[in-house]
Amino acid sequence: MAPTGNVRSFIWNHFLKLEKGKAQCRICMETYSFSRGSTSNLKRHFKLKHRTTHG
Ligand SMILES: [Zn+2]
Repeated sequence: MAPTGNVRSFIWNHFLKLEKGKAQCRICMETYSFSRGSTSNLKRHFKLKHRTTHG
């Protein structure tokens, strides 16, 4: 199992990693592509559609 210490991206609590460069939103089940190393695309979607927390 993976060691702890990679909890940096909260986004992966809400997205499911698919094949390389793709992720699926757990809430609306939409599939999005994202650049390697950059999840800003997913964060943007989450903030726009499912934002629950401030910041
Ligand atoms: Zn969504």
